[in-house]
Amino acid sequence: MADATGQATLTGRGRRRLLGGHPWIYADDVHAAEAEPGALVRLLAPDEAPLGWALFSSKSRIALRLVSRASAEPDETLWRARAHAAVAHRRALGWLGARDACRLVGGDADGFPGLVVDRYADALVLQSGCQGSDRHRDLWLACLEAALAEAGLAATSVLDRSDSATRAHEELDKRVEWLRGERLEPLEVHEPAQDGVPALAYEVSLTEGHKTGHYLDQRENRAHAARFAAGARVLDAFSYDGLFGIRAALAGASEVLCIDQSQEALERALRNAERNGVAGKLRIAKANAMHDLRARAEAGERYGLVVVDPPAFARSRREVEGALRGYRELNRRALALLEPGGVLVSASCSHNVSRGEFLDALASASLDESREARIFRCAGAAPDHPVLATLPESEYLKCAFVRA
Ligand code: SAH
Repeated sequence: MADATGQATLTGRGRRRLLGGHPWIYADDVHAAEAEPGALVRLLAPDEAPLGWALFSSKSRIALRLVSRASAEPDETLWRARAHAAVAHRRALGWLGARDACRLVGGDADGFPGLVVDRYADALVLQSGCQGSDRHRDLWLACLEAALAEAGLAATSVLDRSDSATRAHEELDKRVEWLRGERLEPLEVHEPAQDGVPALAYEVSLTEGHKTGHYLDQRENRAHAARFAAGARVLDAFSYDGLFGIRAALAGASEVLCIDQSQEALERALRNAERNGVAGKLRIAKANAMHDLRARAEAGERYGLVVVDPPAFARSRREVEGALRGYRELNRRALALLEPGGVLVSASCSHNVSRGEFLDALASASLDESREARIFRCAGAAPDHPVLATLPESEYLKCAFVRA
């Protein structure tokens, strides 16, 4: 779309923050702004010195999202270059195979503020989270498709699944609409064999599944966890569609139990097990995992590999204290279920809980349970989910691997 350009003058503090590296400018740090919702604006210091370009939001606390610090006005060439770089990075990972799935665009970290685009084989699923990404959606999508075409890939179907709760901060309605092509649902995607990890096939529901249909961010952590599965009884708690467990089964686990509160997710886990030839090893239990883990520990069940991957416990900074108590308690129960010398894989996807705070909660849990816990890896999201160095908010996933 043709962009109407506006301008925004920052306060002294806004200027300092921006020069300090952070790409978001809060409404309190904007002295004056004249622009349409979502439009590109020229950024000015209090003395009118040019500071670059940003996308304006008329409603959010995050009033401006930086696009460029250069003096030249961003145009289609810039978006094309960013799309090209985003695709090239995933190509370098080897994650753009015909039936593969991965995150193509991860918002600010790929230079597209507010936009997430995931590729599932022939389908693209996008999520727009702010006024700027809504306004630029069609232009950005065209640039991304051009970059994919250069890589010899074409998406036959495109779904706009902009239904995240955070859109409310921007006073944007939720929408789920197929922009193009056949409704590919359910869709089967494949992770090819890589670095000794066998291939995997799984089912995704693009419109009904969590996020854009799947937890792409745990891909490498699932593969890593599977290294400790041979011969083990495996507990996959908060399993969603069962891929930690199925990876473990493929790696030689003797049996796998998936626990989730969603019957739909568990049924998908069963179908996924079937697809990968490990249905005989996989059982499911629909339960509140917090309660169920305690009951199983008390009943004397023990596992050689325990995975706990709960939803975010802290939705805001205010909820952090309660969340840390939750992580401590959950990990106590997980440790109680772990055989001596077993491996616990414990994740937190709370943005507001830092890695240090999360590891402290794990330490407390190990003391509570009198288990010596050796953390031998603490990973983040898979490398198709980059974190912008100057935007700590773009880091959220912590996944600790612990021998206890
Ligand atoms: N491990 C999965 C992702 C898990 S996401 C993967 O690698 O893909 C978190 C899951 O926890 C969701 O499937 C959700 O249905 C489930 N969940 C949320 N609260 C729960 C609870 N109290 N008990 C059991 N499952 C729960």
